[in-house]
Amino acid sequence: MREMIAPREAQSILFDIAQPRETLVLPLHSALGYVASEDVRSVHDIPPFTNSAMDGFAVFSSDLSEVTENKPKRLKVIETVAAGGVPSRSIQPGSCIEIMTGALLPRGADSVVMVENTKKENDEVLVFRKVLPGANVRAQGEDVSKGDVILEKGSLLDSARIGLLAATGTPKISVYAKVKVGIVITGNELILPGSQLMPGKIFNSNGFILFSMVREAGAIPVEFGIVSDEREKLIEVVREARSSCDVLISSGGVSAGKFDFVEEVLEKDDWEFLFSSIQQKPGKPMVAARRMSKFFFGLPGNPVSVMVCFELYVRPFLRKKMGISPFTRKWVKGNFAAPYLHKSSRTEWVRVKLHTEGRRVILTPFHYQGSGIIRSMVYADGLAEIPASTGTVSPKDEVNVYLLKEMQTF
Ligand code: AMP
Ligand code: MG
Repeated sequence: MREMIAPREAQSILFDIAQPRETLVLPLHSALGYVASEDVRSVHDIPPFTNSAMDGFAVFSSDLSEVTENKPKRLKVIETVAAGGVPSRSIQPGSCIEIMTGALLPRGADSVVMVENTKKENDEVLVFRKVLPGANVRAQGEDVSKGDVILEKGSLLDSARIGLLAATGTPKISVYAKVKVGIVITGNELILPGSQLMPGKIFNSNGFILFSMVREAGAIPVEFGIVSDEREKLIEVVREARSSCDVLISSGGVSAGKFDFVEEVLEKDDWEFLFSSIQQKPGKPMVAARRMSKFFFGLPGNPVSVMVCFELYVRPFLRKKMGISPFTRKWVKGNFAAPYLHKSSRTEWVRVKLHTEGRRVILTPFHYQGSGIIRSMVYADGLAEIPASTGTVSPKDEVNVYLLKEMQTF
C-alpha cells in the first residue's frame, strides 16, 4: 500500500522544492514570455524632455487670454520645429513656434495650440482658441521618472512591459531560463486523432492536454510520443527525456493495474520519490519524484485527473521554477447552490461553474463528476475543495474554490 498524503501537503512539498533555473540576458526581441529575474529601474525620465502632444503652435498661453472664435489673435511664427529637432529660439510675447507632435517645447512656451484651431498666413498665424497653461504638452518624466522601478522581479514579459523597457532605453533584460518539459504518454490503447478508430482503442487526449497546459504555463513542451506499456520501452524513453528536459510528465501507468509500470521504472532509474499517492479524488495515484536537478510527475491516465493534477500541483511548480510570481491561481470562497453529497474519504475536487448572487459566489457542479468526463473540465470555472473529513456540504457552508480561469468578476 502506498502512503497517501494530503493535497495541501503535496503542494507544500513541491512548492518548497521548486527553485528557478539559471538566469540569462536576452535582447528585448527575444524576451516575450520570459520572467524578469531582477527589478529594473529606469535610467531616464520618460518622456526625456517636455514636448508637444499635438501638431500646432507652441505659445505662451497668457498671449491668448482674450481670444475667442470671433476675436482671433495674430502671432508671429519665428521658427518651425519637427519631431527630433531642437528649437534654436525662444518665444517672446506676440510670437510663437510652429511645432510637430513629439518636438521639444521651445523655451518661453507653456502650451500648444492645435493646428486645427489656427490659420497660417505667411509668417504669421491666426489663433482662434485660447489655451490653458500646459495644454497639449507632455511633461518630462510624466510617464516614468528616472529611478522608478519599471519591471518587477517575477513579472512576465508581455508586449507592454517590453515596450516600457524599450521606451526607457533598456536594450537587454535578465530573465530566468524557461523550463523544458518532456511529455511521455503511456498506454497500449492509444491512437492519434486522425487515425482509424479500432475496437479497444481510444484517441490520445492527454498528450494534447499536457502539451497545451505546459505551454499555457509558460514552459516549453517536448513530446516523447506514445509509449506502449512495457518496462523496457518506458525506461528507455524516461532516460532519453531526462537527458534533455528539466521536468518530465507522464500520463497513465501509475495505478495498481498489471501493466502500470511508471513507479517501477522510476525506482529502477534511481529516482527519489517525493510522494506516490495523494488523498484526493480525482488524481489519487499521482506520483512525484526527483533525480538530481530533474523532476518527474507521474499523472494518472484519466484525462480529468491529468488536468486537475496539473492545475493543482504541476502548473504552480513549473511557474515557480520559472520565477513567475504569483505562481498559483486564485482561490475564492463560494457556496453550493444545492446540497453536495460528498461520499469519498478523500478530498474531492468538484468541477464547478461559478456565478455571483449579490456578493456571494454560487457553485454549480457539473452533473457528472467521473474522472474520465472531459466535458466537466470544459464546463468548469473552478475546483471546489471538499475536505476528506466533510460529509454532505450544505449551501450554507462556505467552501474554497481554486479558479481555473482568470475571471474579471471574482
Ligand atoms: P491508466 O492510469 O493507464 O490505467 O489509465 C486510466 C484510464 O485513462 C484508462 O481508461 C485509459 O484508457 C485512460 N487513458 C490513459 N491514457 C490516456 C490518454 N493519453 N488519453 C486518454 N485517455 C487515456
Ligand atoms: Mg494505462
